[in-house]
Amino acid sequence: MGLLPPVRHGAVRERRPDHVIRIALLPGDGIGPEVLQEARRVLEAASAAGLLDASFETFPHSADHYLRTGETLGEEAFARLRDEYSAILLGAVGDARVADGVHARDILLGLRFGLDLFVNLRPVCLRAPDLTPLRLREHETIDLMIVRENTEGFYTGSGGSLRPGTPQEVAISESLATRYGVERVVRAAFDLARRTGRHRVTLGDKANAVPHVYGLWRRTFREVAEEYPDLEAETRYVDALALELVRHPDQFDVIVTENLLGDILSDLGAGIVGGLGLAPSANLDLRGKGLYEPVHGSAPDLVGTGAANPMAAILSAAMLARENGAPLAAERIEAAVDRALASGVRTPDLGGRKTTEDVGRWIAREVAGGA
Ligand code: ATP
Repeated sequence: MGLLPPVRHGAVRERRPDHVIRIALLPGDGIGPEVLQEARRVLEAASAAGLLDASFETFPHSADHYLRTGETLGEEAFARLRDEYSAILLGAVGDARVADGVHARDILLGLRFGLDLFVNLRPVCLRAPDLTPLRLREHETIDLMIVRENTEGFYTGSGGSLRPGTPQEVAISESLATRYGVERVVRAAFDLARRTGRHRVTLGDKANAVPHVYGLWRRTFREVAEEYPDLEAETRYVDALALELVRHPDQFDVIVTENLLGDILSDLGAGIVGGLGLAPSANLDLRGKGLYEPVHGSAPDLVGTGAANPMAAILSAAMLARENGAPLAAERIEAAVDRALASGVRTPDLGGRKTTEDVGRWIAREVAGGA
């Protein structure tokens, strides 16, 4: 188990895994609970169809919970999430009532850092031809993986400020890279490429302008690449990479990059395949522990409208199934999402008129019915 099994497409013969996948649900804020309800519905349908065994427990941690109790995540909940569950499925965290975002940081970064989930895997896959705003060449597709380093860079909180709120304010945020942290995520990217039958690994950095941190990345990348002579390895400056991602996305297979750059590139990636409503992600270590979440945030403008697209959460649930020994369930869920898109079962962000629940129910029915 770990970092995706070898088979992505085609016949997968494995049946239900021989263990119950214990899933902790963290619906969180905004549209989080709405999309997570649909992701759960789809996993339950896969369960009913005999494709996996899953149990669910919901954790209340959110802005509401924080404002009511003063607790963000808490040591006890953290320990339970670490010790008692195979996987965590998170909706979204973020709420304007918590101005400094402390609960969101404690929950999301607390879990990513605390569980040492150093790989943030963000697939960028064009699931229906009309979803891209790009004018692709004939037969050109978009199907790549962004591997974002998840525990270092600018996200460690290193730095500080002096005289905040005054005209003399000084602020410093430092980006941190360790040889250990870079090496393990670069190796994970090469392993992922091998296991999923991809041929090229691209490093995105800014070694020309920020030589210390990205110099370490480049040297490490080149050294690790030598262990994978069967794979093509290339380095690009991230600005040029972003340009090429829009011009000719089919030249990329696996992109590995630092935390902040990966955050930006993966939103760009989401933008070229249909937007945030369709972008799933997984935060992984190498031991099979994982936190799965849509790339999007809490989208407060959509709460209660029924317009939130649940597909990003549902596709995150498919990644959860795949990583936890149920590849057939993952394939079935992804195929059902593709059929929904092809049949016009879409929320307004994708030009449709269906509600969050309509889409979730439709996909769950397809998953339960097979095909
Ligand atoms: P964060 O800071 O957590 O990334 P954000 O408020 O900057 O959050 P999102 O909440 O991710 O950004 O979303 C930005 C906008 O994209 C939303 O306001 C919404 O209009 C749209 N959006 C996000 N997620 C979805 C979704 N699942 N379905 C439809 N539209 C979405």
